[in-house]
Amino acid sequence: MSLTAISANLSSTKLILPVAVFGLMLGLTGCNNSSTPAEGVDAEAGTEQSSTEQEVATNDDATAAGGQTVTIYSSRNEQLIKPLLDRYTEQTGVKIELVTDKTGPLMARLQAEGKNTPADMLLTVDAGNLWQAAEQGLLQPVSSTILEANVPAKYRDPKGQWTGLSLRARTIFYDPSKVSADQLSTYADLADPKWKGKLCRRTSKKVYNQSLVASMMEHLGEEKTEQVIRGWVDNLATDVFSDDTNLLEAIAAGQCEVGIANSYYYGRLLDEKPNFPVKIFWANQGTTGTHVNISGAGVVTGSDNPDGALKLMEWLSSDEAQGLYASADKEFPVKAGIDESEMLKSWGPFKQDDISVQKFGELQTKAIQMMDKAGYK
Ligand code: FE
Repeated sequence: MSLTAISANLSSTKLILPVAVFGLMLGLTGCNNSSTPAEGVDAEAGTEQSSTEQEVATNDDATAAGGQTVTIYSSRNEQLIKPLLDRYTEQTGVKIELVTDKTGPLMARLQAEGKNTPADMLLTVDAGNLWQAAEQGLLQPVSSTILEANVPAKYRDPKGQWTGLSLRARTIFYDPSKVSADQLSTYADLADPKWKGKLCRRTSKKVYNQSLVASMMEHLGEEKTEQVIRGWVDNLATDVFSDDTNLLEAIAAGQCEVGIANSYYYGRLLDEKPNFPVKIFWANQGTTGTHVNISGAGVVTGSDNPDGALKLMEWLSSDEAQGLYASADKEFPVKAGIDESEMLKSWGPFKQDDISVQKFGELQTKAIQMMDKAGYK
């Protein structure tokens, strides 16, 4: 590895490198991460600071620690992921450099740095993003009996380039003062004219919706899925939202009666406001099951410490880390048999869609084209 370690905020010697450089790289390298525009408003992605400038640091400590340092490029909210990483360092003595930014810029940076990258691991959300990173050659295949034992195959890349580490359900939320649960059933049903002027949707630019639509294409076929998307657009109560939290708050405020969001955003709102007047409904229980996606990680192709990165990924799939994921971030463990938090339990059990999440990547381009054609902004 080069002697330069990059850190968002951990270092002493700093040079400012405008993010425009990375934006340019994104274009030049043909990065097709269509989720990028919407991530700036996502709690998942980076800080405001890191979206406007990068701080490049010479970090002698990291160099001295050599193989004992694992450098992570992460699009996860630092507050959520840091306690887990600190726990790992406590247990193993392995130092972790955490570089936080949005997925698009991190992937562009990996492209530009190639084999000189200080990164060992890419940590991000959505199988669609991980699939894109693998497609671009940014991740290397690994083989691990621990990951195979802890993470069901449907949440891992068949070629071993990435693995899921936590689960999130994208499901239906509603205003119980206007809607009763027995009026709700599937994502597709939200296209029915009975929901005209009552539906809220987040932008189609967000990878979460691209993955949901990809799963519908797989289950319902292209023709039916396009009809559903057109129905959603016809039923919109207002313009599409930039993030799930705003959408849930719009339901609470009476702007719409139903919408689709990721479960952990709802969990965070309930943490802040226990009487938040919105209810969760598990979609597609009588059919294909609720859409479930992953957050996950892969070992970076140019890593000089792939073993260290893999060991950390294995630890993140362990009972202890899986329990922390579930309690800290309102996500579901990817490993079976882990106790969920009281809040997650209170939402009740549900049938998950059994689809292999790599499909979300494979069908992403088609999903984007279809939403565009159907007028879903
Ligand atoms: Fe998110």
